[in-house]
Amino acid sequence: MPYSPLLSSRPLIIAGPCSAESERQVLETAELLKRMTPVRVFRAGVWKPRTKPGGFEGMGEPALVWLQKVRETLSLPVATEVAVPRHVEATARYKIDMLWIGARTSADPFAMQELAEAIGELCPDTPVLVKNPVVADLELWIGAIQRLRDAGVRNIGAIHRGFRSLGHDVYRNHPRWSVPLELRRRFPDLPIINDPSHIGGSRQLIAPLAQKAMDMGFDGLIVETHVRPDEALSDKDQQLTPEDFADVLSHLHFRSRKVCNSEPIEQYRLQIDQLDTELLEILARRMAVSREIGKYKREHGIPVVQTERYEDVLLSRIASGKNLGMSKEFIERIFSSIHEESIQNQL
Ligand code: PEP
Ligand code: MN
Repeated sequence: MPYSPLLSSRPLIIAGPCSAESERQVLETAELLKRMTPVRVFRAGVWKPRTKPGGFEGMGEPALVWLQKVRETLSLPVATEVAVPRHVEATARYKIDMLWIGARTSADPFAMQELAEAIGELCPDTPVLVKNPVVADLELWIGAIQRLRDAGVRNIGAIHRGFRSLGHDVYRNHPRWSVPLELRRRFPDLPIINDPSHIGGSRQLIAPLAQKAMDMGFDGLIVETHVRPDEALSDKDQQLTPEDFADVLSHLHFRSRKVCNSEPIEQYRLQIDQLDTELLEILARRMAVSREIGKYKREHGIPVVQTERYEDVLLSRIASGKNLGMSKEFIERIFSSIHEESIQNQL
């Protein structure tokens, strides 16, 4: 897939307010970002998808004029969210440099199809970043990307913005890092950036989340920044001032994404390969014993699932795992998989 220069800079830093609110707010924020940070693309929402009616829904088309001004006066490419074909038609007219698709839209196949066709027809070379859908459904995320590709959109990337979770969580949207990592495994050439603002939902979580994303090899960040965050009309708790964002960036450790084949790594990998082979052999032996137990239970009319025994096994494995430095959650995940497979084997 050919990539536009806008998608190939590393780290790809996109910053700007959640919403474009006024010409002054847009220009002041952009000027400070340009002066103080390595921002590559300026972001601002022009049409805001709100969960409930009655909130601030964005300034609409007049705000595209302010974005144009940012591009012209600061030579800074600009990006905004599009959700329906009418938005694409307007952004194409104002020559917006980059588009993103929000988490509510990428979750809706009908909306995605119409949007993909509009982008493919009106601006197939404009880079488009697809946010993960609100629910942690990787196939839905991939489906949204495929619809764009099939409609002829040539420069596609992804934004990891976390997933809605029920109940209380420190995160506004839980990161579930395994989902974007699996996306990377399946599409190694797709640029994936992280949105710590919408994951964290609060200013103090931006720096640790951004560092984690860099450690995991994400290609960049999209971070909400506002000259006066406390006055923001949307997402005020998570927006940083450009100064604070510059400070966050100055403390981040960036890693290169080059494939590492150096001698020490190769030695460690050989060890891992050997240990994995041993793990698999042990699992196979465990399953064989489990099948023997299954046979005995069948012959003696004993039910396959013995809840109390499973409870005991789990508690003792969690305790042993803890002594060996492994978390309860990890041991629970491993042993519930093993137990499920054992039951299948015994049925
Ligand atoms: C946004 O980027 O301001 C936005 C609305 O994000 P999301 O679609 O991730 O909620
Ligand atoms: Mn926002």
